[in-house]
Amino acid sequence: MAAEIFYGFELLLLKRFQSDLRLWHEWKLKLLDKAGECFGCIDALEDLGDIPQSLWFLSVALHKRQKYVLQLVYQEVKREQEGRLKKSGDTLLSTYLSYHQFTEFHLDSIFKYGEDNKLPRELFKCPNVTYLSLKYNSLDHLPADIGRMSRLEYLALTNNKLQVHSIPYSLTFCRKLKTVLLDNNLLDALPGFLLKMPSIETVHRHGNHNYFKATFMWYHTDVNFRIIPVSGSNDANMDITETLEFWAAKSLIGSKVDFYSDHGVAVVIKDYISDIYDNFNICNYCNQACLASHSGYKVITFKNPYLGNTCVPFQHWACSIDCAKALEVPARVEQIAAARDLDRQYEDFIQDCQKNFIAYFESSKFCGCGALFREETEEVQEQTTHNCHCTIM
Ligand SMILES: [Zn+2]
Repeated sequence: MAAEIFYGFELLLLKRFQSDLRLWHEWKLKLLDKAGECFGCIDALEDLGDIPQSLWFLSVALHKRQKYVLQLVYQEVKREQEGRLKKSGDTLLSTYLSYHQFTEFHLDSIFKYGEDNKLPRELFKCPNVTYLSLKYNSLDHLPADIGRMSRLEYLALTNNKLQVHSIPYSLTFCRKLKTVLLDNNLLDALPGFLLKMPSIETVHRHGNHNYFKATFMWYHTDVNFRIIPVSGSNDANMDITETLEFWAAKSLIGSKVDFYSDHGVAVVIKDYISDIYDNFNICNYCNQACLASHSGYKVITFKNPYLGNTCVPFQHWACSIDCAKALEVPARVEQIAAARDLDRQYEDFIQDCQKNFIAYFESSKFCGCGALFREETEEVQEQTTHNCHCTIM
């Protein structure tokens, strides 16, 4: 099946119209006027007058996706004429996305640094998306909603501003995810939960500025535990009233269960959990979600090897010293055993090479010039190919 692609200019257009309904109304009428009442098309875009530079994405959309844009206009006008209200939570973007079965989101380089680069929730509610590319967007966090994309196989986050804690645990709900590109971010290790995702085949992670400096120090020291106490953040001025809803959400987040795909969890609760998800640290060992104001432990482990690399650092969060040890101790034992195994394989390889060389050497002889000949071909080589240039030299 051919990929159905949703592009960055479409997202920018719908985001803009959604935030400025007066502008949407103005363009809706203008487009309807030029295209005619019954699914026409606008051949001469000049007829629309000058489209301001700030709405460049509208020009692009009218060139490349005119049918889709006009379809949205017609549907919305029809809905208004019939006096039908929007369903709660429906937006222009969700309406547009629901008309088309998009399978790929190509959303690279759409936000500049300092701009509002919030990714609308509607994007993550598209069930068929297998490919999501968000390169060069200055993203400093990935919304928990990413866990809604249950069919996602490819996720590109290259060249953003992500740190370990800005990649949510809910990514583990993407059970088909094979490729994650995390090059050129601000990671000092990979998130520990990636180790729990057996579907993953490729992780790109080069160009993360602290990747070696801050974390590999722990690899080269002989400290007993790579466990660092971290105090809770005071500036977490969350306005979370401690309601029953809050406690239900806290326990669901801690359980690590994929609540997005659970039909028993109400839609409003899913949205509520997404809203507060970032305020929690989730213990990588037990089923505990703690508010960011809660102190805990940062645990560094190394996986040796991991996806073709000899050694990769991971960072986990643990709610107590016992949980931290339960993560660190077995990981360290495994790492040392794996390193010994690699050393042994390397030695075996060297020994094999030496054996082969000696066997080769013993079944050969030298010419006066120092060139080596295999015994069985010596006559032929000497006569035909060799001709001993060495003696001439
Ligand atoms: Zn714990």
